[in-house]
Amino acid sequence: MSLFQVFQSHPALFVTAVVALSLAVGSFLNVVIHRVPKMLERQWRAELAEHAGQEPAREPRYNLVVPRSQCPACGHRIGALENIPLVSYLVLGGKCSACKAKIPPRYAIVEALTGVLSGYVAWRYGFTWTTAAALVFAWAMIALAFIDLDTFYLPDDITLPLIWAGLLVNMGGVFADLPAAVVGAVAGYFVLWIVFWTYKFATGKEGMGYGDFKLLAAIGAWLGWKMLPVVILLSSFVGAAVGISLIVFARHGRNVPIPFGPYLVLGGLSAMFWGDALIKYYLQAL
Ligand SMILES: [Zn+2]
Repeated sequence: MSLFQVFQSHPALFVTAVVALSLAVGSFLNVVIHRVPKMLERQWRAELAEHAGQEPAREPRYNLVVPRSQCPACGHRIGALENIPLVSYLVLGGKCSACKAKIPPRYAIVEALTGVLSGYVAWRYGFTWTTAAALVFAWAMIALAFIDLDTFYLPDDITLPLIWAGLLVNMGGVFADLPAAVVGAVAGYFVLWIVFWTYKFATGKEGMGYGDFKLLAAIGAWLGWKMLPVVILLSSFVGAAVGISLIVFARHGRNVPIPFGPYLVLGGLSAMFWGDALIKYYLQAL
C-alpha cells in the first residue's frame, strides 16, 4: 500500500501526520511572528536613509533563516534537540538549557495552537486538496493574529499574497466559486474602508488600520462574499465582549487601542468551519 492509500483509508493516521508536521510549522510561525516586523523595520530604516541621501547603516544579516535562534538572555545557540516543537519546551521545563532563564510560554502556545487547529482541519476535510488549502489559510491567520497582537500591524507581505492565494484556490471553487471570491475580496476591503471613514468622520479617531481591510479582503477571497456578514458579526461580537471585559476586569483604559486583526482571524476561521451551518440555522430561525 502506498502512503497515499494509507492516508485515504486511515483518517486517524492522516490527522496524526498533519499534527506532527504542523507542530514544526508552528515553530516556524514563531520565527515569522517574531522576525517579520523587525525585518520590515529594517527595510523602512534603509528606505528612509536612502531618501535622505545617507549611506544605509551596515547591519548584520537578519531574515527568517539567519541568524540561528538563540536564548535572548544568554545568547546560547538553540541546538536541533532543543528545538523540537513543544517536546523540547516540556522536557526543558520552559527554561533555557544553558542559563535556566524562563522561555516565554507563548512559543509553546503558538506551536500547540497550530497543531490543534491543523489537526481539526485534517479531520474535517480529510485527505483532500481542501485540507491543503485550508492549512495554508489557517497558518497565515495564526501568524497575522499574533503579529497584530504584538505590533498593531498586519504586514502586506502576508495579507496581499493571501488575497491572491484565495482567488487562485477558488479558481477550482474549493471554498466558493470564483465570482463570489472576487466580489468577496473587493467587498471585504470596502466594507471596512467605509466603517473606517465613517468612524473617523464622526469621532476624528481611527478605529482600525488599512491592514484590517486587506485581511478582510483576504478572508472574502478565500470564503466568498456570502461569508462576510458572518465574519463581521462574529468578530465584532467577540471583539466587543473581550474589549468590555478588559475595561471592566483588567482596568484596561477605554482609549487604549485593541487590535482588530485577531478578531477578524477568529471570525474568518469560524466562518470557514461553521459559516454554512450558521447561515442555514439563521435562515431557518427567520
Ligand atoms: Zn539562556
